[in-house]
Amino acid sequence: MDDHPVHIWNRLSFRIAVGLLAGALLMPAIGHAQPMGIPTIGAASGAELSPALETLLGDALMEQGRRDPTYIAAPEVNQYLTDMGHKLVSHAPAGQGQRITVFGIRDPQINAFAMPGGYVGIHSGLIASSQSEAELASVVAHEIAHVLQRHIARGMTQSSQSNTVLIASMVGALLAGLAGSGDLAMGVAAFGQAAAVDRQLGFSRNAEQEADRVGFEMMRNAGYDPRGMVRMFNRLTNASRLNESPAGGAYHSTHPQSVQRISDIENRVRNMPAMQAVDSDSFWYVRALLRVLQARGAQAQRQLVDSLNYETQQTSGVQQSAAWYGLAYAAWQRKALQEADTALDNARDSGRDSPQISRLSVLLALAQEDYAGAQEQAQAASTRWPEDQGLALAMVETLQKSNKDQQAIDALEQYIKHWPEIAQFHQLQAQSYERLGQQVQARQAMGRYYEMVGALPSAVEQLRQARNLSQDFYAQSELDVRIRTLRERLDSQRALLERFKAS
Ligand SMILES: [Zn+2]
Repeated sequence: MDDHPVHIWNRLSFRIAVGLLAGALLMPAIGHAQPMGIPTIGAASGAELSPALETLLGDALMEQGRRDPTYIAAPEVNQYLTDMGHKLVSHAPAGQGQRITVFGIRDPQINAFAMPGGYVGIHSGLIASSQSEAELASVVAHEIAHVLQRHIARGMTQSSQSNTVLIASMVGALLAGLAGSGDLAMGVAAFGQAAAVDRQLGFSRNAEQEADRVGFEMMRNAGYDPRGMVRMFNRLTNASRLNESPAGGAYHSTHPQSVQRISDIENRVRNMPAMQAVDSDSFWYVRALLRVLQARGAQAQRQLVDSLNYETQQTSGVQQSAAWYGLAYAAWQRKALQEADTALDNARDSGRDSPQISRLSVLLALAQEDYAGAQEQAQAASTRWPEDQGLALAMVETLQKSNKDQQAIDALEQYIKHWPEIAQFHQLQAQSYERLGQQVQARQAMGRYYEMVGALPSAVEQLRQARNLSQDFYAQSELDVRIRTLRERLDSQRALLERFKAS
């Protein structure tokens, strides 16, 4: 994929065009059409998805979603959004232990959605149109509130015909995928086809108001100015009034605004003391990056370069630096390396720096085949920002491109200890083992990767291959244990799905 700065997902070789991310299980943000005949959340609802089944379905959807061409793999974006999600959820009373993963979708429409399993997708268009971090946070908080209030788990099992068909086809597809040799993704592909013809789920107005209320509290407690929610609402309303705005038009067609909801929030804000909330620098750099990733085609790119150039003249401080960073990123993407260099220097004017700028600087050095320089920069930047995953990945890429695969493996070992939830590190480790000819370790690392993304049949297959390649008795018995454990997990997943199907 030409727009992905880090070639992380290339090993996942096949992609299934099922329009998953437009599929029926994804919940659009903020305003949801209320389908006829669906009871409100307050009504007694017999079954809801168990957390285990919800996680299983969510992981399966996400396993496929990561391969969708609109999925944004840039680590700068994923870490920024997920950190924001964690910050918000840690300030919710019901947030303890809830897994939240926030990711970006390359789509100019102003939209967001929550999926089963605590996954929240944010369209690049929504971030590009946000004029402050609080506005973005208001949407992320609203979606997390849907997760915490279990609106998705309940919504999926509301007694409407379409939901029943939807769940049944998904469970059936997953079961087919889990049966023996089939790849899980194949099963989900069948689901995608079933889901695409189905109607979109919608939340009731009560659920929307509840999500607004819970989201509002989360924002306030996490230190974001809740007035951002009002501004975002107004922005969405204005966007839908302006017919010439493509984003607004699309939003209007799927997300009718509720006057009541806006006035509820305005009432809550009215009596609040003024709040001095400052946007993080990362908001501006990530926003600039998303604007670049979103601009597809020569005309859109020219327009973007024009706006960014204009902003370098009209803004100051971090916004000016971020505009230069955007120009540098766009130049790097089209391999205008000298131009990128100059723009990056301007982004660093008056001593400004950021993990995003440093990461791009490393990638630029790599593009210029300055491996020593890249490594030196990656080292210095990782020391300065040890919590930044984009810099960790830039370091790995530098080591791999310099044919220092053993060092890459060692670095990844440290990163895996530091960020045990990031599956991608195992995938990169597998690549380096492979290049060193260490087939058993490569298969094991790949098995771990598949296990973490929920593709258990693929994980078993990798470990089985490792078992066959291994000459070491102890390694073999260890692998046997891991394979057995995975098969047991597969069995219990199958039982979970069968039970749901039967009920
Ligand atoms: Zn909503």
